[in-house]
Amino acid sequence: SAKEKGRNNYHFFDPSLDKHLQQRRQHLTELAQALRNDEFQLYYQPQIQLDDSSVIGAEALVRWQHPDKGLLAPGQFLPYIEGSHLEERFGQWVLRHALAQQAQWTAAGLTLGISINISAAHLLAPGFSRFLKRYLKEHPDLNPAMITLEILESTALDDMQRASQVINECRELGIQIALDDFGTGFSSLSYFRSLPVDVIKIDKSFIFRMLEDDSDRAIVESVIYMARRFNRTVLAEGVETARHGGVLKSLECDQIQGFGIARPMPAGELNDWVRQWQSEHSLLPVSTFVQR
Ligand code: C2E
Ligand code: MG
Ligand code: MG
Ligand code: MG
Repeated sequence: SAKEKGRNNYHFFDPSLDKHLQQRRQHLTELAQALRNDEFQLYYQPQIQLDDSSVIGAEALVRWQHPDKGLLAPGQFLPYIEGSHLEERFGQWVLRHALAQQAQWTAAGLTLGISINISAAHLLAPGFSRFLKRYLKEHPDLNPAMITLEILESTALDDMQRASQVINECRELGIQIALDDFGTGFSSLSYFRSLPVDVIKIDKSFIFRMLEDDSDRAIVESVIYMARRFNRTVLAEGVETARHGGVLKSLECDQIQGFGIARPMPAGELNDWVRQWQSEHSLLPVSTFVQR
């Protein structure tokens, strides 16, 4: 056919592009197989409330247990999934597994929220909120208030109207929305007004640099101020040291997450980690606070 002929010409005239496409196709075949073989795994990184050090929840971060290459980080395979026909199926896998994990924690007496990263095409795919609505109905043990969907600023901005609509549908179900990597895109202060999100996650690049760089420190301060002013919760990611934590506490940041608290870990390790953390950060009895 003419189409086939066109494709062949295309290949013939641009051998480098051809190689690139072949590689991409190869990766996608492998990734589709990985989905079928259940080779993906969710790791969980704790999130902490700064004022009382309580563990509020954990963010699900995907890993690929590759049969030959070992454990792969998302940066090594997500770029192939995003924009491909696998994106939605992959996103559904993550969503189902993370929600099932949260239900398991609840059943084990562990009150932990779950934060789930949602890609642009997945969020904007038809039926996204409908799926969540049905899932919550089928799993009445799940508390939607303990579920946070993390979306990137760029996702929201690509199609602001559609994104806002889906965000609102999710929030009507009682689910929280977090704006991830805040500050890295073309974020402007007006998005505080126009995007109906619950949580602002300050990108880790600002946190990394804020101790040495006054401009970064000013950005962090401003985002925290604006979040408070617009009644949003603000979480700082990339908290690697106690000094970072101390500065963020003095700035009255609400929540923190980072290697300084814990690295992402397999689900099986989280239970013990939380109990250990709680025993080391046990609060004064409530009455002590009331008396003061
Ligand atoms: P993100 O959602 O912004 O997640 C935070 C990333 O920073 C994670 O990398 C985490 O391991 C890392 N991190 C956390 N604390 C620190 C710290 O103190 N220092 C440093 N240097 N890094 C820290 P990871 O797991 O490699 O994930 C990278 C990105 O991949 C995520 O960024 C997210 O955008 C994406 N991602 C991960 N899992 C999923 C998923 O299940 N679905 C989708 N759509 N995207 C995912
Ligand atoms: Mg995230
Ligand atoms: Mg982030
Ligand atoms: Mg990121």
